[in-house]
Amino acid sequence: MALHVPRGLIMLCIAALALSGCGSPPPSPFAGATAWTGARIWTGEDEGYLEDATLIVREGKVLALHRGDVPDDVEIRDVSGHYLIPGLINAHGHVGMARGLETGPTIHSRENVEAQLRLYARYGITTVISLGDEPPEAFAVRDTQVAEQPGMARLFLAGEVLDPPDAASARSKVEALMRMNPDWVKIRVDDHLGTEEKMAPDVYGAVIDASHEFERPLASHMVTLEDAKGLLRAGTNLIAHSVRDAPVDNEMIELMREGDICITPTLTREVSTFVYAERPAFFDDPFFIKAADPEVLEALQEPDMQARFTGRAANYYRAALPLAKANMLTLHEAGVRVAMGTDSGPPARFQGYFEHMEMAMMQEAGMTPLEILISATQNAADCSGVGDAVGTLAPGKWADFLLLDADPMDDIRHLRRLAGIALAGHLQPFDDMPHATEHD
Ligand SMILES: [Zn+2]
Repeated sequence: MALHVPRGLIMLCIAALALSGCGSPPPSPFAGATAWTGARIWTGEDEGYLEDATLIVREGKVLALHRGDVPDDVEIRDVSGHYLIPGLINAHGHVGMARGLETGPTIHSRENVEAQLRLYARYGITTVISLGDEPPEAFAVRDTQVAEQPGMARLFLAGEVLDPPDAASARSKVEALMRMNPDWVKIRVDDHLGTEEKMAPDVYGAVIDASHEFERPLASHMVTLEDAKGLLRAGTNLIAHSVRDAPVDNEMIELMREGDICITPTLTREVSTFVYAERPAFFDDPFFIKAADPEVLEALQEPDMQARFTGRAANYYRAALPLAKANMLTLHEAGVRVAMGTDSGPPARFQGYFEHMEMAMMQEAGMTPLEILISATQNAADCSGVGDAVGTLAPGKWADFLLLDADPMDDIRHLRRLAGIALAGHLQPFDDMPHATEHD
């Protein structure tokens, strides 16, 4: 690196020479930092790219976005030609509940949780909010993640999805869950197309009140407009799926705006209920195949397996998908914050890749690439309560960022032109990231 002393400093030294000597310049405010230079940087705020800016990172965190000459006492990482954006955040995923197509306690392990977090990270999903039903091992992973060098997606989680039999037992259920120190509480209000009993309003009201008593936000799984509105009136902090039985109405829009409540549309969740009835087109996408387990793909093409994606539920959710998309757009246009969320993690909801599919569907539905990027960074972080740590490249937040070879503002699918993923400023090339199957 050529020694480069700013002219002003030389003049100052000449003036000060008689007093003190000027052998070496004083350390700059960026001493010991790393400077990521040459990229077009989008910080995650509402405006577009910063030109001629340098991202300064120290101790894993953003120190500054700097314009002008870079001091000599920093390490330069020239990433010219790339687009540099904040790491993506999935505000509704799941970890450790499945391995391949298997579920249940026999597949629960710390290694599986960690492999899935590395898989998310490989695809540029640097933070995951896992909304329930994780194995206990997932809490151990969260509690021992090294913030400065996680090597895998940062994890926040909800634990057991609560389903108390009555309002009177709600508080003790929530209290028991608190021993795990969950980041969220999760409930389901769903009769599974009339096959099960649905949680009653007095019960979910009691769970929501108890969660708030323990200062935890609560996320609600629901299907219908009436349940969404009931949950909003009762104080839910997140609507965890799109409304799938009716167009959202003004009352719902007002309830969401009044409480500043976000929604995770999980459009790919609907896709996963029917798409394997035939061989899906994305089985030929190199970006998908790169990390997919060939055995799982083979199993999903067996005729017996394909038949499982043709029943009543598959038909319902296939038919509901256009409405889910339209409702997402209506809420978004009404000023409700959409937080990118997929419900990936259960069998055949491919972590990492489904987030890219979700964002492509958001674009098809009519959101602009910039709006989708905000949804997957700033909104996903703020809506999940982790906006102080991640979501934008503001000073003080973790330096979790992506390097892209094409402009995602032109087309959100350019996020697939992923060159590198940085967690706390540690860059890993996309091709070097471990696969999902690489665990024992
Ligand atoms: Zn879910």
